[in-house]
Amino acid sequence: MNSGKILVCGAGGFIGGHLVADLLKQGHKDVRAVDLKPFAEWYQRFPEVEHLQLDLQDKAACEQATRGARIVYNLAADMGGMGFIENNRALCMLSVLINTHLLMAAKKYAVQRFFYASSACVYAADKQTSPEVVALKESDAYPAMPEDGYGWEKLFSERMCRHFREDFGITTRVARFHNVYGPHGTYDGGREKAPAAVCRKVIQAKLSGKHEIEIWGDGHQTRSFMYIDDCLNGMEAILASEILTPINLGSNELVTINGLVDMVEAIAGLKLKRTYNLKAPKGVNGRNSDNTLIKKHLGWEPGTRLRDGMEKTYRWIHDEMTQRR
Ligand code: NAD
Repeated sequence: MNSGKILVCGAGGFIGGHLVADLLKQGHKDVRAVDLKPFAEWYQRFPEVEHLQLDLQDKAACEQATRGARIVYNLAADMGGMGFIENNRALCMLSVLINTHLLMAAKKYAVQRFFYASSACVYAADKQTSPEVVALKESDAYPAMPEDGYGWEKLFSERMCRHFREDFGITTRVARFHNVYGPHGTYDGGREKAPAAVCRKVIQAKLSGKHEIEIWGDGHQTRSFMYIDDCLNGMEAILASEILTPINLGSNELVTINGLVDMVEAIAGLKLKRTYNLKAPKGVNGRNSDNTLIKKHLGWEPGTRLRDGMEKTYRWIHDEMTQRR
């Protein structure tokens, strides 16, 4: 795993940017970072890395990106939190072109290992109707009824990875990420997810002196959130493993959205008046990650408590927002 070119697709984004940083920290010298966004909008960039701005929905761009790479991480997708994916289903589904063309390029250039970032949104909606969740096992993805748009694209792309492995011998590995959060990610603009959105709203209230917060849904929805450092070491372990089927990569520390707001209020040192927007996109009622398989096969468990990860995330978003002001 330690020599040869590593391609990170979606490197201008949240997880991709952290992955590039982590690879450099581990001593990898030959990293190619690709994203659709103009360089100025990437969350993290490093002078020693080759940067390319390419639209990976395009087949020729995928070939340009993949040529000479030994390992490919596909973290590129048109995505965001519930507010984005519930209102942009076609755009989410078009990410199928990215993974398909990357797999074709990986076959053409005989890539050695290919990582695909799937999502907990592949899980059947009828398994997530109650806040008193039973954690989702990998087998719960079938019979299939995933999140419309985004979840179907992820499920289809998982299958593409499987069939490219079975039919063409490409070593593909797939992780189903459950809500990842941390610094250097989206916190406004409509694509942000709950942890970053709650931090932003609490900071806005603190800075403006208007001590109110709007919460999407009734606040009783339950979720688990995985800190970025845990995600990175889990990804690495899955890519190096012999696990052939998609596997959960997530935290199993369950929290309600109200509980998450309590936590951020405590970090900020203030209490806000809450209003609940029941019309806003709120996703499923309850979701948690069953980590039995990953613990058994890789001994992996998330090491970061939600409160600790949220402190770091809050601090980063606070600095960004105060600098902007
Ligand atoms: P992100 O939006 O921060 O990063 C994705 C990056 O992909 C963006 O920088 C975007 O510009 C890039 N991209 C989109 N279309 C592209 C294209 N056509 N060509 C090249 N680049 C393109 O998202 P993230 O949180 O870093 O997520 C990374 C991956 O993990 C995605 O596949 C996402 O679906 C998956 N995932 C993330 C989470 C999470 O909680 N963050 C949860 C489940 C799955």
